[in-house]
Amino acid sequence: MSTLVLVINSGSSSIKYQLVDVDTHEALATGLVERIGLAVGRLKHEGPNGDVVLEQPIANHEAGMELVLAQFAEHGPALDPATLTAVGHRVVQGGDVFDGPALIDDTVIAQIADLAPLAPLHNPAHLDGIRAAQAAFPQVPHVAIFDTAFHRTLPPEAYTYAIDQKVAHEFRIRRYGAHGTSHKFVSRTVAEHLGKDVSELNTIVLHLGNGASATAVRGGQSVETSMGLTPLEGLVMGTRSGDIDPAALFHLARQGGYSIDQLDDLLNRRSGMLGLCGHTDMRDVHDAVAAGDEVTETALKVYYHRIKGYVGQYMAHLGHVDVIAFTAGIGENDDIVRLGALAGLEKFGIVVDPERNAGRKKQITVISPDDAPVTVLVVPTNEELEIARQSVELVRG
Ligand code: AMP
Repeated sequence: MSTLVLVINSGSSSIKYQLVDVDTHEALATGLVERIGLAVGRLKHEGPNGDVVLEQPIANHEAGMELVLAQFAEHGPALDPATLTAVGHRVVQGGDVFDGPALIDDTVIAQIADLAPLAPLHNPAHLDGIRAAQAAFPQVPHVAIFDTAFHRTLPPEAYTYAIDQKVAHEFRIRRYGAHGTSHKFVSRTVAEHLGKDVSELNTIVLHLGNGASATAVRGGQSVETSMGLTPLEGLVMGTRSGDIDPAALFHLARQGGYSIDQLDDLLNRRSGMLGLCGHTDMRDVHDAVAAGDEVTETALKVYYHRIKGYVGQYMAHLGHVDVIAFTAGIGENDDIVRLGALAGLEKFGIVVDPERNAGRKKQITVISPDDAPVTVLVVPTNEELEIARQSVELVRG
């Protein structure tokens, strides 16, 4: 008898899903809805009867989730509720409410909704996925796994903003981080792959997807991470600005008459690569650069510059770095970005071998030369397996 968990990972422009057998680590079905909200959306469902690919507009996450459930019904494997141990849902922001996985009930749904202001692109998208899945599987336990949990080991000097601490405490303003399930999985997988105990390694994980974050992991514990109070801080992302002088917002409000909602929309939905060059997808960015578009070329340089700055910062915080690991949609698939983001760091022992780096990486791959002081790897993230494991642990007590 296998232990099956349906894992739903509903992101800002994508929904990943997997039917995971926790006993064998096998994904019995896997899929990705991407380019949600763009002119042409895409769904790929890989089940026992091969791949199904659909290309059609996918307006929002609810529409995406309905499409996912339809693929199971039409193409298999059948999702018999009696065979499911749990449905595990990734949730980005657990604030200071959730210390670990939570069995989803009306109270938890309300708490996730309450935390939405801290993760405006994510928590509402998660709730769309949760509601659609609960309707489909009302008798199966649904579990929320929070991406903030891994970053609970951040020391105060890393999570504290230098503002009036009375205000900070009253409004719970501190750095929570995000993508924790991925950073945890990747840093542990790196150690396993290198045959080391996780406590022996200092690792910088670069999670580069539509959302992007960097984490410094010392001996298996997150000690610094680029996302902050919300997933807006840090690296340049698909539509999010990452770091910006907060005074730019005062300036826009005073000089441009921008409202809070307009500023939120500007920084969360109209900035990042979209704001810089009009493209959110890195494949479109590279096409434009290849066609000689100088604006897009500058945008890509901004993207690299920010990553490089975080790598340097984390080298300083960690003292020494053993490993840099790339993961997520861009980190796993985009050899141009991997090469570009770390170019010029050779004097610090960080070298990417162009031949090893070439192409998309479907499995863990070392892309640095054998004699390089820092091992650079691509590690396909497996948040689904991590979420499935934690879901089963919670359900079984
Ligand atoms: P994620 O948020 O992790 O699902 O990553 C989504 C992003 O990965 C997309 O917006 C693309 O920019 C990027 N991506 C996915 N596949 C590729 C690819 N083959 N080449 C370059 N970038 C890719």
